Amino acid sequence: MSSATERRELLKAVYTEARGCVACQLHETRTNVVFGAGNADAELMFVGEAPGANEDLQGLPFVGQAGKLLEKLLGEIGMERGDVFIANTLKCRPPDNRNPYPHELDCCQHWLFSQLELIQPTMVCTLGNFATKLLRGDGAGISRIHGQEEVRTIGPRAVRLYPLYHPAAALYTPSTLEMLRADFLRIPEILSLGPPPQPELEPQPAQPQPPAHQPHPDEVVRTAPGEPPGTPASVAPAPGASDQQLGLF
Ligand code: URA
Repeated sequence: MSSATERRELLKAVYTEARGCVACQLHETRTNVVFGAGNADAELMFVGEAPGANEDLQGLPFVGQAGKLLEKLLGEIGMERGDVFIANTLKCRPPDNRNPYPHELDCCQHWLFSQLELIQPTMVCTLGNFATKLLRGDGAGISRIHGQEEVRTIGPRAVRLYPLYHPAAALYTPSTLEMLRADFLRIPEILSLGPPPQPELEPQPAQPQPPAHQPHPDEVVRTAPGEPPGTPASVAPAPGASDQQLGLF
């Protein structure tokens, strides 16, 4: 299973499944599952912490002030949201924006690992402590290791992992913003190294082919006027309009 189209279809199937997730108590208070959005074949992926109030309402990651800063920093390196994929460690909002609980991270992490496996990014920027600790598998804090890229094997694939300060932490602290911006400016150079060497895979027995994808009638890829096909007409679908999120990756 390797073509970008096939992986995108599988990603949609995982999203459809995630929308029904009731593995932890956060499903009781969410408005939308915030699965993630962007280019399903992105070389660069960002992993934040958890949806906030705006994200919960719109069903999209990083649509508040921290998201605006993320977009600005992307713009400074010549990229935009549509070039990358943005996800979180938790797919549902913790009430009052409290920190994720360990058992919530345990319940939710398999969605993120599926995303990483299907998108196959070259580089993963973890934003803040929760994503960094989850994907590095240890307790090293972001203030010590931000800006230090390393090759890490996550699931079956090796990626260039690059821990960054969370944009929300940089919103009101100019010195943190300066460090985040300096780290961000190195992203193109690290991306230009290309994919890291991949671990040798054990030969797998042949897998049965999944059934051909049957588009759901609601599954529309909306296109903005004058934009290439697949460009979202809006990045702010109404609450509950989560089928439209499918058009964003
Ligand atoms: N902060 C995050 O970590 N994720 C979001 O989606 C929004 C804010």
